[in-house]
Amino acid sequence: MKVALIVIVAVAILVKAFEHRLPPALYRALVTIGILLPLVATVYAIWLLWQDLIGWRELALFLGLYVATGLGTTLGYHRLATHRSFDAHPAVKLVFYVLGSMALQGRLINWAAYHLKHHANSDGPEDPHSPLEGLFHAHVGWIMRTPAAERERYCKRLLQDRIALFADRTMILWVVIGLAFPYLVAGWTGLLWGGFVRIAFTNHVTFAVNSICHRFGSRPFETNDESRNNWVIGALAFGEGWHNNHHAFPSMACHGMTWRQFDPTGLVIRLLARLGLVWNVRSPAAPAVERRRHEAFA
Ligand SMILES: [Zn+2]
Ligand SMILES: [Zn+2]
Repeated sequence: MKVALIVIVAVAILVKAFEHRLPPALYRALVTIGILLPLVATVYAIWLLWQDLIGWRELALFLGLYVATGLGTTLGYHRLATHRSFDAHPAVKLVFYVLGSMALQGRLINWAAYHLKHHANSDGPEDPHSPLEGLFHAHVGWIMRTPAAERERYCKRLLQDRIALFADRTMILWVVIGLAFPYLVAGWTGLLWGGFVRIAFTNHVTFAVNSICHRFGSRPFETNDESRNNWVIGALAFGEGWHNNHHAFPSMACHGMTWRQFDPTGLVIRLLARLGLVWNVRSPAAPAVERRRHEAFA
């Protein structure tokens, strides 16, 4: 069982690395395995939980890596690389791009290309993952459909960025390190909780931003799409659930716009700004925000 899981994960990692070179049918089959495996592992881990309480090391590995790789995705992949919501010291870029790579959500520049295509065509025919084609499609189905990220079209800038290119090309290495580390700390159960279960949680929470946050929640701003603010996903996805705010002001660094909108990613960006490690933190001008709010109620 253990060997089988490890072999399948290795295949999933290779698929993510070479996705644009595989035949579509093979790609779909392998991606399906890559999505199902962490879920199967999660069920297995919960079954183990019934047999014996989870140890503090497994819990610490799960939570620590969930937060680290989650912030890698939200702060590194999304707000920094994709939307340029702030400028950062090269070391900060590298750390968060590497942590984002560990989440097994694909290569940085592919991720950014899919996401910029989503913003350019939100809930339109060209949107890679609109729930107008069904919630399952928006959640994971879209990943199996289209292997070709339009890197040249949407990510010319990132293709010139040496740190982004480095993270993009070395993704496999970071995924392997992200799995090896919990294994070295706590053996098989460490790999299970700090590796597979953590990947399942991080990925499905991120997928939920694409599915749940375009279907369920409030719309304080009038946008040309179905984006919603959803506090549950906001909490689980480190502030990414304030998705209607984000679609209204895509380059805004802090997606939580009031003190009640909990946005841990925004808090970390503010902390890094205090430390002088990031700067030019972008936020919309107050009159622009009021104008958009007013439009929503007009
Ligand atoms: Zn969206
Ligand atoms: Zn975005």
